[in-house]
Amino acid sequence: MMRLLFVFFFLCSCATRNNVLNQYREKLQNGLAHKSQRTHILFLVDGLSYTVMKQQLKNGSLPNIKTFFLAPGQVLRKAHAVFPSLTFTNIAGILKEKPVHQTNAIGNKIVYNNRRINFESLDDRQNFTEIMRANNIFTRLNQKNYLTASFDYGLAADASLSSELDFQSAYAASQSDYRYIDLKKNDALKLLLSTTKTNQWPEFIFVHLVGYDFLSHRFGPQSAETLSYLKTIDSDLADTLNLLKKTESEHQVISILSADHGFSLNAKNYVDIGQLVKKTAPGAVVINESRMASLYYEKPSSTGELDTLTKKLIKQKGIELIAYKKSGQIKLQTHGRSFTYQELNQECVGGGVKISTENFTDICSTQLPESIKNMFYPFFIENLASYFSNPHWPDVVIIPNADTTFTNVGRGFHGGPTADETITPLLMRNAKIPQDVIIPNWQLLNFIN
Ligand SMILES: [Zn+2]
Repeated sequence: MMRLLFVFFFLCSCATRNNVLNQYREKLQNGLAHKSQRTHILFLVDGLSYTVMKQQLKNGSLPNIKTFFLAPGQVLRKAHAVFPSLTFTNIAGILKEKPVHQTNAIGNKIVYNNRRINFESLDDRQNFTEIMRANNIFTRLNQKNYLTASFDYGLAADASLSSELDFQSAYAASQSDYRYIDLKKNDALKLLLSTTKTNQWPEFIFVHLVGYDFLSHRFGPQSAETLSYLKTIDSDLADTLNLLKKTESEHQVISILSADHGFSLNAKNYVDIGQLVKKTAPGAVVINESRMASLYYEKPSSTGELDTLTKKLIKQKGIELIAYKKSGQIKLQTHGRSFTYQELNQECVGGGVKISTENFTDICSTQLPESIKNMFYPFFIENLASYFSNPHWPDVVIIPNADTTFTNVGRGFHGGPTADETITPLLMRNAKIPQDVIIPNWQLLNFIN
């Protein structure tokens, strides 16, 4: 029996490693593999903040990434996540190339047609694929007859080539063997690149590395275990990066390394948000996303009621900011500071939404002066304007203090608006990033055409 099992797993292992390559060969045989102009490859390191990346590059822990992406004189650049700083929200934005009010993915958990959907659960994961389908970068490039590849089973809607559901990776995840999952993606990618002609490589390749995020949740984003894993990612990527570098004389390759969001680096206090809302603002469905929570009330509340509720909530221990929307007006309240703006229900060219504030009438959220755009937290007003313009917006948003989280499991938390959660690293090889610009991550792939 053991021997049979061993043979089964061995066959399984080969099958999954070869899977993308086999799909590729099939396309080639059917005349469906088109010549590529150039290849764009995005390595998305889930959960890696700019702060951590900068430290680790500085202390020499990432020699392969550094050599590949940072020629002398080049510096690590920044991108920014949308709000909330969650995986599904930000990956939906990156792959759909759209801000959060156009993606329908305003959280890892959303309330949709009065039903709670949790994209992190296997049961609801299909809903995410449906949200992604027919409208993402894979779709856009497929329409031009380009080949695309996704090395993530769950994030591959419309990709021409993709990793298949892999039982061993699921088992590895249940055993917390995250390296197995990342390594398998990397091995399958290496196999594809090393056995195919460079001028027939896919036009776009998406590689989603998940181990750093899983370990950050469990041990903390700056724990010895997590940082050591980041080193492992660097050494595991060495061969792949060398392979990309070696082909540059015959084929143009633009490589990008970034993240979907970061982690809070100092959240350690816990507030039971369910209890707190029950006590102070009862009757709401509470969506707890760890470093933020949103409330959905069944009955519409009046502005007066929401004002009273906000005043109560902001006085609670561990709470830093409350925002609510009523009749298109968004009110933000912290301790001793408030800000109000009006939605104008109009899109702006380039992705923002039109709003009016006390000093500006009819301005795009992306064009706000720095003093307003970055009020309270980096890019917060820009991000919040987009968030509240989504058709599934909640009645109230609650942000805990920077050192506080609404989750009491694990040691790493994100979802909130602080710089460590919002500002992500951005490295590019063979492409120039405009200087002094911190782009929102949903614009990361816009340049591919
Ligand atoms: Zn993530």
